[in-house]
Amino acid sequence: MAPPGTAGVRDNYRGSPGAHRYVAMLATSLLLAAVAFTAQDTGSIAAARVLEDVKYLAADEREGRGFGTPGLADAGAYVAEAFRTAGLEPGGPDGSWFQEFTVSADAPGLAHAGLSGGTTRNVVAVLRGRDPALRGQVVVVGAHYDHLGRGGANALDPDSTGSVHNGADDNASGTAALLEIARRLAAREPGRSIVFVAFSGEELGVLGSSYYTQNPVPAPVDSIYAMVNLDMVGRLRDDKLLALGVESAAELRGLLDSLNATGAASNGGHRFDLRASGDGWGPSDHASFYAVHKPVIHFFTDLHEDYHRATDDWDRINAPGIVRVVDYAADLAMALANRTAPLTFVDVPRPQVSTSGRSSASLGTIPDMSGTPGGVRLSGVRAGGPAAVAGLQAGDIIIGLGDHTIANLYHMTDALNAHQPGDTVVVRVLRGDQELEFTAVLGRRGS
Ligand SMILES: [Zn+2]
Repeated sequence: MAPPGTAGVRDNYRGSPGAHRYVAMLATSLLLAAVAFTAQDTGSIAAARVLEDVKYLAADEREGRGFGTPGLADAGAYVAEAFRTAGLEPGGPDGSWFQEFTVSADAPGLAHAGLSGGTTRNVVAVLRGRDPALRGQVVVVGAHYDHLGRGGANALDPDSTGSVHNGADDNASGTAALLEIARRLAAREPGRSIVFVAFSGEELGVLGSSYYTQNPVPAPVDSIYAMVNLDMVGRLRDDKLLALGVESAAELRGLLDSLNATGAASNGGHRFDLRASGDGWGPSDHASFYAVHKPVIHFFTDLHEDYHRATDDWDRINAPGIVRVVDYAADLAMALANRTAPLTFVDVPRPQVSTSGRSSASLGTIPDMSGTPGGVRLSGVRAGGPAAVAGLQAGDIIIGLGDHTIANLYHMTDALNAHQPGDTVVVRVLRGDQELEFTAVLGRRGS
């Protein structure tokens, strides 16, 4: 496109040396504008494509991608077709895109959700490594594509049981990110192979990733170098990105920090407000890989009040934010695929959460999952919920609940499990440099 007024400027240039510099500046700025336009344009094309994926996966027709539904099967077929279109090879058994597995009716997550058993499938694609010394190893990039179906026991809004829970952020966002990473990397030549896996059965207790790590395709478990998980990356706010699992290998923090500071995004770095914390345990598919001693990273744009509710819809998704996560995660996947040195796995025992006496007591808080030492920081409170009524607010750090000292989310879960809905408890909180006490009447989870 020729910028308007170019001819007139060229006339002035002939007349005066001062104008020469002006023209040069103008030309430079037009060139920069053109480059910026192209970059922005590419970004917005990617954002539109990502949003299209989210809208397909989170459409009512997909039935909330619930276990055993045709909607989930459609979503799996959509993922396989996107992998094929991107130019990847099938990575499943016998040259298939699909790794089918059976879930027995007495699987804990299934019984809890009132579902009967059946089969479901992971979708697996591979981009072959090019380095003879490294290509026997794989980097797994994964995201779960199932969700809660029509709500029920695993949802937080029992009043909405029966209505489709679209799970736009959880985890159409991560699935769309996975597909966009696949499109971006398909043209690259990684040293190690990169295996892309869309997991099923995550919401029922990371079933798909557990099955995968017990029955890995297309390469054995020993060949897995690291795993990158995208679960809930659709609500980027203030550039805050969580990278959980960073302590699963000694080198990961340095790698993430240096990519964030100087990696791509036209070499200005990705510039996230990066919150890297935690071992490899956590309530998503990366934990299955950590359990078999693999370094893991879980990218996450944090909790919000629509989490596990029927209101988690596509119109609340930050698609350009997903593309930013894609840029960063793709760079990380390539860095992992090309790294010659090994990663130093750091083992931490699985945290013990008491499973006995799981109660349905709720305080109505939205914890900040990036982790605050010595307490549970709140990124928000549910409007009208017990915490809000008691006077707690975003930014408060809970340090005690009843007789329980709270240093982390596990303590908080245990403390709530030790109470019943309707109990009155004292909540101790740090707000700024003050320690405050509030009296809350616990509610019922989901109400
Ligand atoms: Zn979920």
